[in-house]
Amino acid sequence: CSPAIAVAQILTERRKLLSPNLSISYTQPLYMQRGVGAYLYDHTGRRYLDTVNNVAHVGHEHPRVVRAGQRQMAVLNTNTRYVHHQITQFAEALLATAPASLEVAFFVNSGSEANELALRLAKTYTNQQDIIALQVGYHGNTNACVEISSYKFDGPGGKGASPRVHVVPLPDTYRGLYRGSTPDSAQQYAQPVNEILERLHIQGRRPAAFMAETIVSCGGQIPLPPGYLQQVYASVRTAGGLCIADEVQTGCGRPGKYFWAFEEQGVVPDIVTIGKPIGNGHPLGAVLCTRAVADAFANGMEYFNTFGGNPVSCAIGMEVLKVIREEGLQENALTVGNYLKLGLGELAQRFPQIGDVRGSGLFLGIELVHDPIAKLPAASIADYLANRMRTLGILMSTDGPDHNVLKIKPPMVFGKTQADFLLRMLERLLKEDGCKP
Ligand code: PMP
Repeated sequence: CSPAIAVAQILTERRKLLSPNLSISYTQPLYMQRGVGAYLYDHTGRRYLDTVNNVAHVGHEHPRVVRAGQRQMAVLNTNTRYVHHQITQFAEALLATAPASLEVAFFVNSGSEANELALRLAKTYTNQQDIIALQVGYHGNTNACVEISSYKFDGPGGKGASPRVHVVPLPDTYRGLYRGSTPDSAQQYAQPVNEILERLHIQGRRPAAFMAETIVSCGGQIPLPPGYLQQVYASVRTAGGLCIADEVQTGCGRPGKYFWAFEEQGVVPDIVTIGKPIGNGHPLGAVLCTRAVADAFANGMEYFNTFGGNPVSCAIGMEVLKVIREEGLQENALTVGNYLKLGLGELAQRFPQIGDVRGSGLFLGIELVHDPIAKLPAASIADYLANRMRTLGILMSTDGPDHNVLKIKPPMVFGKTQADFLLRMLERLLKEDGCKP
């Protein structure tokens, strides 16, 4: 049948067979058939440059990662109750990328599961229940994760924060509560955390944990003000809580200068959660924590995970780490990320619709506004750009509470040639009527 009929048929079947709250990108959905490096190919054979997919971290269907999975899959896959060298080798390699105080690894099957486990670890260690999280944060799809994700419970279908969850303002120095990056930004945004801790103290409670990303992805690629995590971590720890860094989107070399985004803030979390990139598309997540946190969790109740840490997943994760190192992908994220950010900054000088360009390495955000002074969010321009880009063969996504931020988080093999193409196409589209401020 014709390509259009094939898509229509699948859409009809999806409507019949799958849950209606699974969303689809684009009003004219894409039917992808193949991925290579930073490119995806649809069912008509058309090629698209992918600026969205931070899951295909080292490139779509990277041959070395595919082979590592195939090799192990052909020999053995089983759970962690049999000893196997793959899990210990992978744990050692992954822990070697993190600060020395993070000594123990858990392997799980998704970012949500990693955060779910992190919350359990913190609640067990502290024997407390209260969690502090950022406004517009997203941490996953399980009950406990949705409960701390203001992006969900404050959004459509949400029912607000539960009494044990405390949301602090998004530290957004572009359009947040305190605007303009100043030496006081960190302290201003850290103050609401202190107020929550004070309230808990008065009620005779202590926090179990503070959880945040270092560049808040669903918030619209918001980098935390310098020094913010140092101040917040210090206050939370003084109050007896643990500090959790969600690196599900930002980790594994994507920030360029650092392997983990929290390093940019000069802090060492008690727990780090890892997801998307580490399996390059294979369902793999991890939690790294201190020995003390892991020991408190080993309270007699067995922790069993049927799939977490199986030899196939570990072989894949290990190969992803090797490819990042051997192909210099963290360095590439730094060089190409800086180059692209500079180019976007130059476009922002000429096009007032670009209100802000931010982020690190290959984790960038472009905030669109109708007017740079009033900063009126331009969701219509972001949406126009994402859709027109698709017609030019570039995949882009939008996010942020006002849906006016274009996110750039491509496979890390994204090079200068691709950055130039993206910049050229953006410049062309920004001159079109649909992008008029
Ligand atoms: N944390 C963050 C920051 C995320 O962006 C996501 C997924 N978008 C998750 C956790 C949940 O990961 P997963 O979808 O793999 O369960």
